[in-house]
Amino acid sequence: MPPRPAAAVPFIVRRSAVAGRGAFARRDIKKGERLIEYLGERISHATADARYEDETMRSHHTFLFSVSRRTVIDASVGGNDARFINHSCDPNCEAVIERSRVFIYARRPIAAGEELFYDYAYERDGTETSEDEARYACRCGTARCRGTILAPRKPDHRLPHHAVARHTDKHRGA
Ligand SMILES: [Zn+2]
Repeated sequence: MPPRPAAAVPFIVRRSAVAGRGAFARRDIKKGERLIEYLGERISHATADARYEDETMRSHHTFLFSVSRRTVIDASVGGNDARFINHSCDPNCEAVIERSRVFIYARRPIAAGEELFYDYAYERDGTETSEDEARYACRCGTARCRGTILAPRKPDHRLPHHAVARHTDKHRGA
């Protein structure tokens, strides 16, 4: 299926109080609606690691999405507006991997004007330092905020995917 034309995307990107830019519903969205595909260059984890080796240690303003043990999507190359959807620990959207592609769906009804979020749940490898924890502190402000953009400490199998935090990924085999 080809990517939807931009006109069909039911959100706009503008400044967000949460972080930089964000995506905001421009009409009411139904639960279960597929909103957009997360597009970008498909690269290996090794390439992603090399590409963001130093920079990402200081900030995580990269647009990496870990699709599988083989593949990362880097939305800073050829990405679309899906990359501007911010993180929340109690999100109204979710990212779903379908045959190695990533789509953002509404997980509940969303009113026009609401900001869209999904849970980034950056992968952990068990070597996270307190610096890492601080770097990935979450300020989503929801009642369910777990305090970090990193995945919950206990693997949460309800999460359909894990976006990649480069530094947590470097020791991973495969
Ligand atoms: Zn949070």
